[in-house]
Amino acid sequence: MFLTISTTGCPERPATDLGFLLHKHPDNAQAFSTSYGTAHVLYPEASAERCTAALLLEVDPVALQRRGRGKNGKARGGAPDAALAQYVNDRPYAASSLLAVALSSVFSSAMRGQCRAMPERAGQPLPLRVEVPALPARGGAKLVRGLFEPLGWTVSAEAVPLDEEFPEWGDSRYVRLVLEVPDGRLTLSDALRHLYVLLPVLDDAKHYWVSADEVDKLLRAGEGWLAEHPEQKLITSRYLARRWSLTREAMERLELVRLADSDDTDVEEIDNAVDEESAACDFEEGSEKPVPLAVQRRAAITDALLAAGSARVLDLGCGQGQLVQALLKDVRFTEIVGVDVSMRALTVASRRLHLDRMGERQAERVKLFQGSLAYTDKRLKGYDAAVLSEVIEHLDEERLPALEYAVFGSARPRTVLVTTPNVEYNVRWETLPAGHVRHGDHRFEWTREEFRAWARRVAERHGYDVGFTPVGDDDPEVGPPTQMAVFTQTAKKEGQAA
Ligand code: SAH
Repeated sequence: MFLTISTTGCPERPATDLGFLLHKHPDNAQAFSTSYGTAHVLYPEASAERCTAALLLEVDPVALQRRGRGKNGKARGGAPDAALAQYVNDRPYAASSLLAVALSSVFSSAMRGQCRAMPERAGQPLPLRVEVPALPARGGAKLVRGLFEPLGWTVSAEAVPLDEEFPEWGDSRYVRLVLEVPDGRLTLSDALRHLYVLLPVLDDAKHYWVSADEVDKLLRAGEGWLAEHPEQKLITSRYLARRWSLTREAMERLELVRLADSDDTDVEEIDNAVDEESAACDFEEGSEKPVPLAVQRRAAITDALLAAGSARVLDLGCGQGQLVQALLKDVRFTEIVGVDVSMRALTVASRRLHLDRMGERQAERVKLFQGSLAYTDKRLKGYDAAVLSEVIEHLDEERLPALEYAVFGSARPRTVLVTTPNVEYNVRWETLPAGHVRHGDHRFEWTREEFRAWARRVAERHGYDVGFTPVGDDDPEVGPPTQMAVFTQTAKKEGQAA
């Protein structure tokens, strides 16, 4: 199984930078053992003008067969043990999910877009050429083009004849694939993530059992391209080996990513929207400057977290990371995790926090990851507190029970803070026309009574006590602009089972 990646140099940099980007030195041939055989990385050419890295995976069909065997010694899928086909098959030479897995383990940093020697270079596009001599392609050359062309690649997919000496036998199911992209379109990480997902999709026969965490792997590798891909459904369903429930989850999460990323107001204009809110907001005593509502909200949240004695905190729907940034300033918060469904928001957050330039001690305190709050997620378990600041109103009301379960039922931090606009206050905004919500993406805005009824129901169902705190100017008639619920896990009564 064989794949090559080449690049040509650009005016300022030699092509051999590829070695740094892949974290594999062009002068050495290296071998890595994998559970199915040995992966070799070597450079057939390495000059300033052109550099090619080859990944050669030597598959051990016997090991592959042994690993695939169930406890009773029978092959999975019920094939009779002695069938020669288990040992004599295309696995050793055809690019497949095995090659994709080798790619991701041998080039894991490059796939994540990280490069210790040249951090900024890893994020820059470069001219690329990828060659896969034998790619099993269910769907033929047409599908190969349909998968790679929308991503910016120029595709050549030539059918490989079954036997060159007997052309009348017709074509095999393999194509010789050449992908090319000029400079300025794709980074090496993009290219590796395209291959990681699309090679097994084309092979359409995964060598391993597809479990639930494959959805996360797919979304991570599909970051920045899968949500908008015209063949998203086919890619998702084949990648997840047609496990329908997983495919549906992945499609829903991709839809959320797409919506969040296409909703320009969400990322770039949140700050402006917040400033607008602040126009009608309190003046700090003795000062001319109004304190923006968003700042008051972060202060109220920080106070409530400290009052609850929380040290390890989740910021769910963290957006551009302003709260994460504020919490980092207080050393009493030892771990702060920002989660958002929008990759774009997370990219802005990571830039805001200067994650790439942070000292090690500081970096250990903060993490950002992509996830949807509509699904339970084991990464969210075990924290002291979770904050949902101005998030619930971004979900359709019928999706709220899923979020409630994921946060209060599954993650179950001791403290949960939820803030949301108080719709009664909207009459006080000078700039807001009557009957309008504050933000284009708000699916609903609640009165104080509606919010309290919701919060009490959630608390009751999941074993929490709940209290309410106004945030911002608490108007005697219409209440505060932001309402906050503070949920605390109900103390176990004596004798009650854990
Ligand atoms: N908490 C921030 C941002 C609020 S905007 C603040 O207080 O300023 C709402 C955020 O929730 C957006 O960043 C949006 O991408 C995110 N979001 C919406 N639905 C989500 C979901 N299902 N899972 C995770 N995040 C979601």
